[in-house]
Amino acid sequence: MTRPVNVAILGATGSIGQQTLDVIDRNPARLRLFGLTEGRRSTKRSAEYLIQGQAGEPDFDARVEAMVTDPRCDLVVVAIPGARALAPTLAALTAGKEVALATKEVLVMAGALVMRAAGERGIRPVDSEHSAIWQCLWGERRESIRRLILTASGGPFWAHPDLDLDQVTVEQALNHPRWSMGPKVTVDSATLMNKGLEVIEAHHLFGVTLDQIAVFIHPQSVVHSLVEFVDGSLKGQLGHPDMRLPIAVALGYPDRLVDAVPPTALEELGGLEFHALDEGRFPSVRLAREAAKAGGGHPAVLNAANEEAVNAFLAGGIAFSGIVWAVERAMAAFGGSRDSLQEILEADRWAREYVKVNSGRLRT
Ligand code: MG
Repeated sequence: MTRPVNVAILGATGSIGQQTLDVIDRNPARLRLFGLTEGRRSTKRSAEYLIQGQAGEPDFDARVEAMVTDPRCDLVVVAIPGARALAPTLAALTAGKEVALATKEVLVMAGALVMRAAGERGIRPVDSEHSAIWQCLWGERRESIRRLILTASGGPFWAHPDLDLDQVTVEQALNHPRWSMGPKVTVDSATLMNKGLEVIEAHHLFGVTLDQIAVFIHPQSVVHSLVEFVDGSLKGQLGHPDMRLPIAVALGYPDRLVDAVPPTALEELGGLEFHALDEGRFPSVRLAREAAKAGGGHPAVLNAANEEAVNAFLAGGIAFSGIVWAVERAMAAFGGSRDSLQEILEADRWAREYVKVNSGRLRT
């Protein structure tokens, strides 16, 4: 391509959005900021589209759709959190755009619909684990995959088996040992629900069965994930935790952007540990598999109930251990549905209402 790739960023003021701007700034010959959405805070950028506000506000949704379907736009980075990223992602894919996806909820809620809209192009993952797997799969055939191995840091509580999860404070939950991220995903890391959502995300992104996806605790967060092939070979992708790398991989594909992150000094890495996941203490991954197997609106219920329960926890309304419990209650109470967009959105609304109405009783 002779001209730079025109990049639109949904959620430019968040952590991923800011780092995406950084990657664009450092590669002016290859990447150009075409448009962005920003919340209350201004990015003070100039671009064809500068959209302020939030999903659901007057004009916002229409302007976002105009930006992501604009013929001059090449690539859309989706980095607004949660369920409201779904509609603009589908609009961009339907318009034939490349999508770099940081918002895993989009694939959790509506993976089949989204992958159908993406078609042969597929989706460029920005989630670090999925970026690692994507990179391991370049040049490989689908039938060569035995299983995908997602690594999890374990969050702040995994290494403290005696800690009472009923008594965990918001400050403790937000104190992630390896990654600096927004509050929602940081709490999801502490409950391991982040990994549950990532199992569903990997299932859709790479077209493997749920049983072909394993989760291991890897406290150092150096091996970002691995693929095991049918011949027994293991490929992993390594490096210091730095989200600019998966962002640069997604924006530069199929090329690699020079010096996207500082090189990793192998002699400084020390030991690498891998541990089986204790699903009794952290049932999130099991719940996510169950939701994905049940299909229809169940993954949307898992996701929405989790989002509401995390909000309730951050606001002091429920205990930390109440988050996963709320998700389990909502899934058990859900009547089921098929996987049309309308029914998925209905399941999402139902689960949010369920958790709100019941959050008094969910106080554990
Ligand atoms: Mg991740």
